[in-house]
Amino acid sequence: MGTDVLPGANASTEHQSGTMKCLVKEDLKTDGLAFQTNYKEPEPGFGEVKIRVLATSVCGTDKSIYNSSKSEGIRREMQRYLPSQESYKPIVVGHEFCGIVEEIGPGNYDIAGMVPEHLLIEKGDYVTAEMHLSCGHCYLCRTGSEHICTAVKVKGVHLDGCFAQYVVVPYKNVMLLGKNGDTSDIPPRIGALLDAFGNAVHTVQEADVAGKSVAILGAGPLGLMSTFLCRAFGATRIYMSEAADLDRRSKLSTEFGVDHFVDVSKGSSELHKMVSKLEHNANGVDVVLEMSGSLPAYEDAFKIVRNGGQVILLGIAREPLPKFDIANGVIWKGVTVKGIFGRKMFGTWETMLSLIRSDRLDLKSKLERVVAQRTYKLEEYKEAFDVLGSGEELKLIFSPESTH
Ligand SMILES: [Zn+2]
Ligand SMILES: [Zn+2]
Repeated sequence: MGTDVLPGANASTEHQSGTMKCLVKEDLKTDGLAFQTNYKEPEPGFGEVKIRVLATSVCGTDKSIYNSSKSEGIRREMQRYLPSQESYKPIVVGHEFCGIVEEIGPGNYDIAGMVPEHLLIEKGDYVTAEMHLSCGHCYLCRTGSEHICTAVKVKGVHLDGCFAQYVVVPYKNVMLLGKNGDTSDIPPRIGALLDAFGNAVHTVQEADVAGKSVAILGAGPLGLMSTFLCRAFGATRIYMSEAADLDRRSKLSTEFGVDHFVDVSKGSSELHKMVSKLEHNANGVDVVLEMSGSLPAYEDAFKIVRNGGQVILLGIAREPLPKFDIANGVIWKGVTVKGIFGRKMFGTWETMLSLIRSDRLDLKSKLERVVAQRTYKLEEYKEAFDVLGSGEELKLIFSPESTH
C-alpha cells in the first residue's frame, strides 16, 4: 500500500450545498483542466446509481485530454456525438475509479424481481463501474459485443466522468467490490485501477500466450500489467520494447517477468536482431501485444511476428499509419490481427476480479508497484499531470475526499 491513507468508506461527507469539487475540461483548444468547487452534483436518474468517489486514477486518455491542443485525435473523439452545428460543452474528466454507493435512482432496475439477493447493489456498497455506456439494443449489444457497440459513449470523454466527488452511472454498469463499504478485499487504490487493468486482461486473454513467445511493445502501465499476466498465463519468453524513461521501466518489467527489455529510443534494429536470433526456429515471435500507440511500434509488430502469429492491438495510434505494407505484414505471413477496445462487458470484469481476489498471483502488490505511492488531491492536479508528463510516475491516483 502507499504511504497515504485514503478516507474510509464511512468518511463523513459535506455536500449539503448540492455542488462538488471536480476537474473539468472547459475548452478543447486550450491545454489543462479547471478545478471547480461549485459544479452541480449529479443526481441519479431512472436506473442509475450515484457513487461517492473514493479513488480515481489517471490514464493516457486523460493525459491526452489534458494536452488537448496537441492531439487532434482526442479533440475529434470528444466531439464525436455533437451535432455539427453544436460546439463543445465542458465535461468532468476521468473514467477509472471506485467508490461508495450514495443513492440508487428511481425506477425498479430489477423489473422481474429476479436478481439474486447477493448481487443486489445497495446504498453503502463499495463498487466500481464500467464507464463505457452501450445502447443495449443494437446488433452488437444483442450478440455479446456490447464493448464495441457503435453508439458507445465513455464517461469522462463524452459525458461527465469521475475526477469528482460524485459520479452517476447506469445500475447495470456497476460492479460490486464489497458489501456495506467493505474495502478489505480490494483496497481503493487497487479498485481505482480496475478499468485500466481490465484493458490489459482483455488484451492478454485475446492472445494465445500459453507456451508461446510474446513481445510487448510499450512499457507503460498497461504494458507492465500485461507482463505479469503473460507470465501468469504461461508465456515462455517475453520481450518488451520501450523508448522513454528506460531505467525505471526496465527494472519493473524485469521484476514482472520480462526476459529481454529492449531500448528502441534510437530505432528498433536491436529488437529485430534479438528476435531473429532467439526465435530463429519459428522466424519470429508467436504473439505481439502492441501497447504503445507509437507509429514505429506498428511496423515492428508486423516485422517481428512469425508467420501464422497473432498481433493484438491495444495502443491507440495518434494518427493514421502513413504507409503500411499489408501484403508483407499480414497477408503473406498469414497473421491474425485483433483490435482491443475497453473491456468485455462483463466477462473481462469477472475474470479480473477473480484473478485479483485469488491471492495466488500476488496481483495487488504488483499493481501497487505501477502506481505512485502518493495520493493526490483533485486541487493538486497540475502537479499530478506534471509528474506524469515528466515520466517521474507512470500512473497516479486522486482522492477527491482527501484532506491531507
Ligand atoms: Zn483509462
Ligand atoms: Zn449497442
